[in-house]
Amino acid sequence: MDLVFSRLDDSVARFTIHGATPAFANALRRSMIGEVPTLAIEDIRIYDNTSVLFDEILAHRLGMIPIKTDLSQYSPRADCSCGGVGCPGCTVTFTLSAEGPKMVTSGDLISMDPKATPVLDNIPIIKLWEGQKVVLEATAEVNYGKEHAKWEPTLACGYKEFPVITISENCDGCGKCVSECPRDVLEIADGKVSIRVVNGESKEKDCSMCRLCETACLDTEVEESAIKIDADSTRFIFVVESDGSLPVKEIIERALLHIKSVSTDLIDALQEGL
Ligand code: SF4
Ligand code: SF4
Ligand SMILES: [Zn+2]
Repeated sequence: MDLVFSRLDDSVARFTIHGATPAFANALRRSMIGEVPTLAIEDIRIYDNTSVLFDEILAHRLGMIPIKTDLSQYSPRADCSCGGVGCPGCTVTFTLSAEGPKMVTSGDLISMDPKATPVLDNIPIIKLWEGQKVVLEATAEVNYGKEHAKWEPTLACGYKEFPVITISENCDGCGKCVSECPRDVLEIADGKVSIRVVNGESKEKDCSMCRLCETACLDTEVEESAIKIDADSTRFIFVVESDGSLPVKEIIERALLHIKSVSTDLIDALQEGL
């Protein structure tokens, strides 16, 4: 199995996996979403809330704020040496005290750990009018996206099968499919349609498999479309975007390690059963 990146920075990865199966691609997607732990606010003690929001809505908004998570320092509560009670190895405490008129944002949350802070400090939480107050203490803990979406480290995480475009000899170069293509994948060259190459890279991977080109070709009253769109079910294009709690490379690595670890557990269980 090969993995080739076309983009990799702290927040976004775009890569292709060659020689995999749909089951493996889906396992990797689910593992990135649900099996890589992050910090998120779970418990809130509200001392004062005279804002227009109910306590529950305020708590929900706080829970969804992504928090920078250093997994070399923090571990999920269930695996922590404290036994799930809560300690500095799995838990961070925040305080928030604000009085209107003011837009309260994630930057108003004061963390007990200067490294475990909200990813952005301008996420709006509540607008306070003159005289309104919010005073609270919040506890963030490390947990998994499979427990609640607030612990998912990804914003976008998906894949598609690699598109395969075949052009037959019957193409007369009329260009109808070229003008229909919304992804600018096709062009006419030497009297025939072909796949564009930009900066040495084929645009085939940008095809969304919408098949508008096939329809356009059939509209020319031919019996069979001269252009055919298929999918290669052994090659997958992934796009993964981090919410900023973890670098995207770490999300991919940890997701793959999770698959490896559950596979090893299964092998051990099988061998014990033999
Ligand atoms: S399937 Fe859609 S995106 Fe792909 S080449 Fe045809 S028209 Fe373009
Ligand atoms: S519409 Fe059909 S015949 Fe015309 S350029 Fe496209 S593939 Fe060729
Ligand atoms: Zn702990």
